[in-house]
Amino acid sequence: MSDANPIQNRIDTHVIATYGRFPLTITHGNGSYVFTEDGRQLLDLGAGIATACLGHAHPELAATLAEQAKKITHISNLYYTEPQSLLAEKLVHHAGGHGKIFFCNSGAEANEGLYKLARLHGLTKGRYEIITAENSFHGRTLAGIAATGQNKVKQGFNPPVEGFRHVPFNDLEAMRAAITEKTAAILIEGVQGEGGIYPATPEYLIGLRKLCTKKNILLMMDSVQCGFFRTGNFQSWQTILKNSKTHEFKPDAFSLAKSLGAGLPMGAFWVNENLQDVLGPGSHGTTFGGTPLVSAHALKALEIIERDDLAKNAISIGNHFTHQIQNLIRTYPSVLKEVRGLGMMIGIELTKSIPAFSASNRPASVQIVELLHDAGLLTIPAGASIFRLLPPLNLSQTEANEGLDIIERVIKKLAS
Ligand code: PLP
Repeated sequence: MSDANPIQNRIDTHVIATYGRFPLTITHGNGSYVFTEDGRQLLDLGAGIATACLGHAHPELAATLAEQAKKITHISNLYYTEPQSLLAEKLVHHAGGHGKIFFCNSGAEANEGLYKLARLHGLTKGRYEIITAENSFHGRTLAGIAATGQNKVKQGFNPPVEGFRHVPFNDLEAMRAAITEKTAAILIEGVQGEGGIYPATPEYLIGLRKLCTKKNILLMMDSVQCGFFRTGNFQSWQTILKNSKTHEFKPDAFSLAKSLGAGLPMGAFWVNENLQDVLGPGSHGTTFGGTPLVSAHALKALEIIERDDLAKNAISIGNHFTHQIQNLIRTYPSVLKEVRGLGMMIGIELTKSIPAFSASNRPASVQIVELLHDAGLLTIPAGASIFRLLPPLNLSQTEANEGLDIIERVIKKLAS
């Protein structure tokens, strides 16, 4: 990086290079927009990576933070605080009014809690194995990469944490065949996010529930990316199963993170009431879990989502995006292959042979995201040829149309 760019230079010099960063230095945000050091304004349809669920610098969230910071930012979980109590109550309410929550700091850590829950629950029966899906993503800790069904995250980190197996996603028979007497749990994303936006089918979810109940193993859902109203309901399975006759679907446990903290680091997992005493005193913990500052922020975000009916907004704006992108696919079939998703979790897949991308061996997903940056839009790459829209839940129709116009301009150029 050149000396002409001291901020990027300082990060490249002093921060371990685990991220492929784009050459944009963001100084601040406002609503659905971010601003760069060199004075550019970009529409943010990535919202972090599905984290800033109410956009940037939200005035009510900023006021809540300031107010809470003046009271107390952190005290350990040796004591009780009101923000954590209110947030837990609301989350349990959204989970169906029963069961309990554990608070932590990230998605990987939330899933770690689920692995420990499954192992303790299976202990007396000698069950410890967890089956996950191919193409899944569950985080970057050692157990997280063992759980993740993508080889690229595992490279170089052998020996793996024992007890994880992967089967094809949306394939109930493969799951049935993989279960052994050692299986403690199944862990599935309702919509595979990092893998490229692949929703579970209703039949798969219903089949998994029946299978797990019959075999007495836990059904655990990783809702880190697809949960927290992103698909138009608190949980993705509520969206997936909304037209199904089965309303009884309920996992035994689920993890949350990303949008839960509305831009601050927070993770959580919920367990059903019959499991709420499996993890007892001393069996699990984290210093910063449910700290009052982050809890107050998350609680305020949840209140705003409820008050402004943003779940509905996620469906209507999300459907608008999907519909318009389907039109773009019809107009530019040489560039756009497919759009997938639910609500505000949308994956757009490119065709394999876009001439403008053939000169570089970098993935098409990264190249399109860079072109969109140049045109004033932030989106998120996934896999080799997919870019994702994971916008703030309060995105307006005007902003959505602005994003669609930018996408069309870039796609049109690629097609010509
Ligand atoms: N699970 C899923 C489904 C995710 O998408 C992610 C992150 O992308 C994680 C877990 C890990 O979350 P974190 O990066 O907060 O550890």
